[in-house]
Amino acid sequence: MGKPTGFIEIPRKPGGYRPVQERTGDFGEVEQRLNDEDRRAQAARCMDCGVPFCHWACVLGNRNPEWQDALYKGNYREAYELLTATNPFPEFTGRVCPALCEKSCVLNIHNEPVTVRENECAVIEQAFEKGYVKPGSPFVRTGKRVAVIGSGPAGLAVADRLNRLGHKVTVYEARDAAGGLLRYGIPDFKLQKSVIDRRLEIMEAGGICFRVNNAVGKDIEGAEIYNYYDAVCLATGAMIPRDLAVPGRNLSGIHFALDFLMQQNKMIRGIKVPEEQRLTADGKQVLIIGGGDTGADCVGTAIRQKALSVTQIEIMPEPPSERMADNPWPYWPNVLRTSSSHLEGCDRRWSLATKGFLGKDGRVTAAKVIGVTWSRSASGRQVMSENGKKSQVLKADMVLLCMGFLPEALDALVKKLGLDTGRESKKLFVCGDARTGPGLVLRAIAGGISAAEDIDTYLKTR
Ligand SMILES: Cc1cc2nc3c(=O)[nH]c(=O)nc-3n(C[C@H](O)[C@H](O)[C@H](O)COP(=O)(O)OP(=O)(O)OC[C@H]3O[C@@H](n4cnc5c(N)ncnc54)[C@H](O)[C@@H]3O)c2cc1C
Repeated sequence: MGKPTGFIEIPRKPGGYRPVQERTGDFGEVEQRLNDEDRRAQAARCMDCGVPFCHWACVLGNRNPEWQDALYKGNYREAYELLTATNPFPEFTGRVCPALCEKSCVLNIHNEPVTVRENECAVIEQAFEKGYVKPGSPFVRTGKRVAVIGSGPAGLAVADRLNRLGHKVTVYEARDAAGGLLRYGIPDFKLQKSVIDRRLEIMEAGGICFRVNNAVGKDIEGAEIYNYYDAVCLATGAMIPRDLAVPGRNLSGIHFALDFLMQQNKMIRGIKVPEEQRLTADGKQVLIIGGGDTGADCVGTAIRQKALSVTQIEIMPEPPSERMADNPWPYWPNVLRTSSSHLEGCDRRWSLATKGFLGKDGRVTAAKVIGVTWSRSASGRQVMSENGKKSQVLKADMVLLCMGFLPEALDALVKKLGLDTGRESKKLFVCGDARTGPGLVLRAIAGGISAAEDIDTYLKTR
């Protein structure tokens, strides 16, 4: 702990966002970076707690306070080595993680947690700038071959770890570029894609082979992969969108969030989308159904596409602005979260269920919604009831469905990919969202690391 009084003397200072007027005119990252002096001062605020709750909250097992201390002292190489000892991709989590570590930071008792996520981003960016980030080439190769199917954060983590352990890894990706939802889900204004390309170059230089445009079970037989490799890891994510079975659902102008977000990310990447397939919010009254993070990403994207108005509705009630008595620190705070996109101009409404869509000439023009109230049953379950007096019609000529994703049953997934060879399945592993259901980038990375360790143990026994 470099500065024992740091947390008393120095207030929390996040980098903040670029001004709304400026940032909504482009798709560049919204977050600003502190200068070196301010950043190091922020690291000085880490208290070296006797019981570090940030370790408890983050599944990656971060090495706070050691790397905060190194950052405070300006020892970027040491900070980088400590940070990457537990997290292979701090440049991803440093940008998009909801920072469970900060929510549980002891300083968060006073709402002034250490800026762990931003500090992480600063360390890895300096490490890239100073040339510390080198390919993870192993000293010896084991001669074992592993196929990883899917190149999201889970697939990348499993590939990185196994490659460092000496196994020859090939990553199969259905899309035209690696990265999973980092590339084709999360908008560029949260994570610019050059950050992924930079990491992929390092991984390739380290010996990992990426085979994009290769959907297993379609472009390449699952059985071929199963027979050729010593182990196979499924990291195919969980992207089945939850639908809304209400009258009018088949009207045009109603889309799944990921179709909308993915198309925008593709266009920024320079991929041409035929005019008739374009999903644009330009000049439209956009209704976003679902109050979560994917919905927030749609808000920011629709605003940048010059939507006339953006309304986001959620079936659950508005969360409180502060923690309730039954949700104390250090638990995840169930409070209202306002993203950078919400600050750009969006009407947020709560406790509304969608009953149907209205349209004209086959196109959606409005949504019929009804107010709902929530109560607890005797068993403690949340029960919803509709209030007929609170029904209303919300005008909308574009509707985006953001009600979450469903995981695919593992048996069905294995069958779909053609990996159900009927023989020993010990060499099949699964990680990330494909294993846990929709989650977070840091959980996918942690799952990838853990799968790599299981695969390595398995390969050693063969
Ligand atoms: C819009 C959106 C925004 C999000 N924002 C955040 C955020 O800000 N912070 C956060 O922590 N989390 C966020 N998440 C969640 C996070 O992105 C996921 O939890 C994480 O990406 C899951 O990683 P994964 O590697 O398991 O799967 P994915 O990232 O989904 O990657 C799976 C990959 O497998 C490929 N694939 C599938 N089938 C095949 C096949 N048969 N052959 C070859 N390849 C195949 C897919 O094309 C894809 O590239 C967001 C999710 C969404 C949808």
